Amino acid sequence: MLWADRIAGEIRDTRKPRDGKTFLIRDEKTLSGRVHVGSMRGVAIHGLISEVLSEYGIANEYRYELNDFDPFDSIPSYLDQEKFIEHLGKPLYAVPSPESGFANYAEYFGAEFTGVHKKAGFAPAYYRATEFYRSGKMDTYVKTALERAKDIRRILKETSGSDKDESWLPVSVVCENCGKMMTTRAHDYDGETVGYTCDRSPDETVPCGHTGRVAPWKGAVKLFWKADWAAKWSAVGVDIEGGGKDHSTRGGSRDVANHISREIFGAEPPFDMPYEFFLVGGRKMSSSKGRGTSAKDMADLFPPELFRLALIGKDIREQIDIDPSGESVPRLYDWYDELAEGVREGKADDYSRLFALCELPEKRAALMAPWQMRFREVAFVLQMPHLALAEEAVRAKGSPLTEDEKRALEERARYAKFWLATYAPEEFKYELQKEMPQVALSDVQKKALGALADYLQAGKRTGEELHLRLHELKTEIPIQPKELFQTMYRVFLNRDSGPKAGWFLAGLPHDFVVERLGEAIK
Ligand SMILES: [Zn+2]
Repeated sequence: MLWADRIAGEIRDTRKPRDGKTFLIRDEKTLSGRVHVGSMRGVAIHGLISEVLSEYGIANEYRYELNDFDPFDSIPSYLDQEKFIEHLGKPLYAVPSPESGFANYAEYFGAEFTGVHKKAGFAPAYYRATEFYRSGKMDTYVKTALERAKDIRRILKETSGSDKDESWLPVSVVCENCGKMMTTRAHDYDGETVGYTCDRSPDETVPCGHTGRVAPWKGAVKLFWKADWAAKWSAVGVDIEGGGKDHSTRGGSRDVANHISREIFGAEPPFDMPYEFFLVGGRKMSSSKGRGTSAKDMADLFPPELFRLALIGKDIREQIDIDPSGESVPRLYDWYDELAEGVREGKADDYSRLFALCELPEKRAALMAPWQMRFREVAFVLQMPHLALAEEAVRAKGSPLTEDEKRALEERARYAKFWLATYAPEEFKYELQKEMPQVALSDVQKKALGALADYLQAGKRTGEELHLRLHELKTEIPIQPKELFQTMYRVFLNRDSGPKAGWFLAGLPHDFVVERLGEAIK
């Protein structure tokens, strides 16, 4: 059973919505810069559970928080450091957008990120953290947390071993003088106001030194994040919310938030779905600055169904690892094509279920799985100036393409071209050598190429025939397979590896192949 069915089934069988009617599913992201693709895993897991519950006829709502009320704690490397340094420590909503046209920094990066959700077919109902604070919806939780600060300190100590001194309060005050929240320290609460000093120095910024008291309502303060997390579960009424593996350890932030939720706010925490990382080239979120690691970069690489497969194909307990500049891109296409083949053969199993879930819900009833040319082949043909993709596709399929197959081919070609121009590694780049490359061939190699030339001189051959002939030559000459194939690729592509040799040769102009082989054995 696929993870989404397993989890949705468990929710259906063991849980009741808090309001007795609709399950509320929630996820959030702090918009501190360009969002790493790892955060898409949460978007997709919550989104798919929502879709599957709907399929089961279970009412649910998916809400996504664009968190614009955390402090701007570091300047991403792709932004002008000088321009942004004065804003360090401010809430994200108070930091200017890197480009005009957006209300603030969080909105700018939020727009890019939600665009990626849309491409992957997820459409949660969005809200901002500031909406909840400014409207006063968080006030009752802020009040409780301040009144019970001692208990929160104890929970932190007991659950995560973190020591806070007796004046510590679970809120960050936004300084009335300089507008920063990372520079302040709240030290006492008298039931109406919170006393604070603005004297901490994050990085190079100089704290303003302001001291004052502030009524902690309507966004004047923000709960420290583990209490904030627990408070939102109650404020929003969350039934289902998973978290990344990094938050889900014993004593980790989820554990602390669970304790705060139960003890301080008197609410059972939401149904949890801890999930593994989405790695990029074997690396975690920490290296989020690299090219190809953002949600947008990854989404640009794939059509929607493939991007969904990348996000939902693995069980949530397994890591995802995709390297835009590695073989994982063609491999993902191969995986998708395998699933499609199963669907065309009429199989009804986990694979066809997964294929269906890669489609948007409205397309699942009349599931289409058109034949597709392998991504690797598309990428190769696109680089061979003498080949026409449409003809090669007909040849590969063995019959004319349907309209749907033609459309699928065009789309795949667009993505293959983009990949070749951006991330594709050298081993996927082919250049047919117009002139005979400089290669020193051994007698055995010459003998093998000579035999191949003789075989072709007798007439045109199909890919299958050439494939069989090459394999015969291994014993006939005899020659090591590696030596034979390397020679072939050297002579035509000036490299040691290439696509399937028989079909590759059959796809080249016949006279050109005969002539080149002749030159090589001279
Ligand atoms: Zn200040």
